[in-house]
Amino acid sequence: MSLVVYVNGELVPEERATISVFDHGFLYGDGVFEGIRAYSGVVFRLRQHIERLYRSAHALLLEIPLTVGEMEAAILKTLRANNLRDSYIRVVVSRGKGDLGLDPRKCQTPSVIIITDGITLYPKEMYENGLELITLNTRRNSAQSLDPNIKSLNYLNNILGKIECIRANVLEGLMLNLDGHVAEATGDNVFLVRNGELLTPPQSAGILDGITRNAVIEMALARGVVVREILFNLYDVYNTDECFLTGTGAEVIPVVKVDGREIGRGKPGPLTQLLIGDFRELVCRDGAVIHPA
Ligand code: PMP
Repeated sequence: MSLVVYVNGELVPEERATISVFDHGFLYGDGVFEGIRAYSGVVFRLRQHIERLYRSAHALLLEIPLTVGEMEAAILKTLRANNLRDSYIRVVVSRGKGDLGLDPRKCQTPSVIIITDGITLYPKEMYENGLELITLNTRRNSAQSLDPNIKSLNYLNNILGKIECIRANVLEGLMLNLDGHVAEATGDNVFLVRNGELLTPPQSAGILDGITRNAVIEMALARGVVVREILFNLYDVYNTDECFLTGTGAEVIPVVKVDGREIGRGKPGPLTQLLIGDFRELVCRDGAVIHPA
């Protein structure tokens, strides 16, 4: 069955969901996006995702031609039109159609696209057995060049990292910042557990302010766990008790090996498992309801 896609205010079959080759999102990666998940009819933290989208756009002086409320309604409408209760949702706002020059003023109207599709996850056994990571040679973009907090359509930094992962036959990799501190994975935030405390790099490490990251911090605090946003390096990762990644696509996924070094005893640790359980419970109740009663 063909999906319908929201394109500039209209729901069109996916075969007809197209944008201009002159769109600066296509020509230059000039635009922003969000990846969002729906679980059992609830769109997890939809408002937070939309607000991050608007913050990314604001940083690019890109004015989204919908209010936050209208954007929320458009996303829910697209999910309903596709009869989806569990979905991965991609919202894209690009600078729109311009000419072949860089000048964004030539782009009159931003393009707004909402795609709702199935879910692609890591294999189920990875959640039970854990992932193996490597450290990538590609450093995370410096915030002084292109702030990783801007979730822009220019994801080449991450794609170069992903290509390294593919060539090394692993599913994810750690990206360091220019100072050599651990920043994040190509599409996920990173956490360590050390002496019962939860550690994660601060915003100043040059990371995306992950919605899942923040949910995990809240869940850990609710369990009375001390959470520290601190800089750490690879030595700290190699010698940590537990490690896991968080992201909308990945959810909470354990890491059991980094650069050939076993983490913990090569098995997902107890706090990681607890937080995986808490997160599964949270996602079904914390968000926008697709079909309100
Ligand atoms: N870092 C990067 C680079 C990302 O692209 C993402 C989103 N996939 C994340 C972290 C995780 O953010 P979130 O939990 O909001 O999906």
